[in-house]
Amino acid sequence: MSDMTLKDWTAAAAKLSFRNQVFIDGQFVPSASGKTFDSINPATGAVLASVAAGDEEDIRRAVASGRKAFESGVWSRMAPMDRKAVLLKLADLIRANLTELALLDSMDMGKLVADAAVVDVPGSALFFQWYAEAIDKVYDEIAPTGPGDLAMITREPLGVVGAVVPWNFPLDMATWKAAAALAMGNSVVLKPAEQSPLSALRLAELASEAGLPDGVFNVVPGYGETAGRALGLNPDVDCLAFTGSTAVGKLFQQYAGQSNMKQVWLETGGKSPNLVFSNCNDLDAAADMAAFGIFFNQGEVCSANSRLLVERSIKDELVAKIADRAKGLQPGNPLDPASKMGAMVDEKQTQTVMDYIAEGKASANLVTGGERVRVEGKGCFVQPTIFDDVSPEMRISREEVFGPVLAVTSFDSEEEALTMANDSVYGLAASVWTDDLSQAHRVASRLNVGTVSVNTVDALSPMTPFGGTKQSGYGRDLSLHSLDKYSSLKTTWIKFKA
Ligand code: NAD
Repeated sequence: MSDMTLKDWTAAAAKLSFRNQVFIDGQFVPSASGKTFDSINPATGAVLASVAAGDEEDIRRAVASGRKAFESGVWSRMAPMDRKAVLLKLADLIRANLTELALLDSMDMGKLVADAAVVDVPGSALFFQWYAEAIDKVYDEIAPTGPGDLAMITREPLGVVGAVVPWNFPLDMATWKAAAALAMGNSVVLKPAEQSPLSALRLAELASEAGLPDGVFNVVPGYGETAGRALGLNPDVDCLAFTGSTAVGKLFQQYAGQSNMKQVWLETGGKSPNLVFSNCNDLDAAADMAAFGIFFNQGEVCSANSRLLVERSIKDELVAKIADRAKGLQPGNPLDPASKMGAMVDEKQTQTVMDYIAEGKASANLVTGGERVRVEGKGCFVQPTIFDDVSPEMRISREEVFGPVLAVTSFDSEEEALTMANDSVYGLAASVWTDDLSQAHRVASRLNVGTVSVNTVDALSPMTPFGGTKQSGYGRDLSLHSLDKYSSLKTTWIKFKA
């Protein structure tokens, strides 16, 4: 893949065809209302596809299809080893269609196609593979009751899992939910973000090709206020797994209360601090990763290291190094492997980010960036931007910008650093840079977040749980712990003559 040039990617893009209908019961069908919405490439403004706008009726049909498949046992009671074979085949098909899937995500939401080809698509294949390989190795339990009693504790699939996901990693966010929920034997109804529905629709088709029975995996593209809300309120959905903003996450809690008290699992926003202490000996590595931590994927990352908290004695040196990196990460055509940053997802998000930048310019020191730019005269691009001397009260220090904007604040003591780091409504992730092992442990243990990365940023793998504390949500994606969300424990107690 690494040898593909701009010309190769452009030629492959010209040959793409888009799945643009609702996927229910193993078939692509128009939306019940016949309504559509445009999927727009934010790098060029071009309309890629007119996509079926699913709403309440489509969700009702998708959930009914999922329920029918679940009750039939065609997947839910299939031996784990056989489910494994289907999901492994799906992982292979994702790898076999890497170019197409990378292009779909890149063109739909603006990310660099080279990143999609190295991170998103291989990641999706790996997550399906990981859960496939795990599912026939998870054993149930027998309680130590004593003679005459056999109390079995088994994990049961829940039924129909609704998944509502955002646009920043369209294929991966869909996979994080679907791979674990499907491996566990559930049916899934996925509602991708309206900004980026194309890879999820192709994934559904590949899942069918891999042998997933009809109705087990349904995908309903559409708007949040219609399709997303209908899934949240549907009385036959057993569990709703959401990734997205904190505000919408709270709506899903309400939807559950207003309907059937379905389980709701939330992976929501973040404002992750990156703490750099003066005894970090490799400031170049810290600068490389600080830049990656905020500028990767245009800063549209829930766990983006958007707050740099740095010990005052090394602040100027470190900020200068990160600014150097930022200058080399200017936005370019997302299909060009030489580009270092892609486009923002759409005009609305670009405007949101520019509003935060305007506020930063008014009350902090702009170190670099700060402008919206066009590439080849088009598109939603924002320069990598760094603000220094940001006070902890400022909005760019407290709110999730979801763009390439770094807020730098200095501290004088470990205690002050910890106080500032934890002074947030969010608790998704944090990074710590220090060569003092005791300090690393001490600080990590006091950070109120789901993941602490020490001497790196955004450490993540299928083997480790990912999720937040506070208003970053609850429940975990990835790892075997994710299976807890998609199963319930059943106790079966048998009395017999000992
Ligand atoms: P969003 O909350 O606006 O949308 C997420 C999903 O919810 C979309 O599918 C959308 O259609 C749907 N939705 C929107 N309004 C709805 C409503 N009223 N009812 C039901 N559904 C609705 O978020 P976004 O802008 O797509 O994504 C950015 C957010 O996602 C950021 O806050 C980011 O931190 C978060 N995110 C979190 C994680 C994580 O793992 N914690 C990962 C990626 C993104």
